[in-house]
Amino acid sequence: MSYRPRIANLELASGNKEDGLYEFKMKLVDGTQCRVFYSHSPEWKLTNISRLQKTPCPVCRKDFICKCMDQWAGDLHQQMIDDQWMEKAIAE
Ligand SMILES: [Zn+2]
Repeated sequence: MSYRPRIANLELASGNKEDGLYEFKMKLVDGTQCRVFYSHSPEWKLTNISRLQKTPCPVCRKDFICKCMDQWAGDLHQQMIDDQWMEKAIAE
């Protein structure tokens, strides 16, 4: 498994401070775009990740729905925490 996604940018798509549910648009360095759902109560928890079908999947090369990004959910979550992507996206 040589592919490893890295986050290039994170943008807040929608968020609700009261119920702690957030939706982000995530861009990876290879150009792949994903939609990520998080709950924040108070720990950040990744609840769903899906690739936007704008570019083919970097793993299986399909340009329709696949589940490849699921296997990197933990890795991406760790990058989100380490680099404080959520905090930065929310602050904007
Ligand atoms: Zn795939």
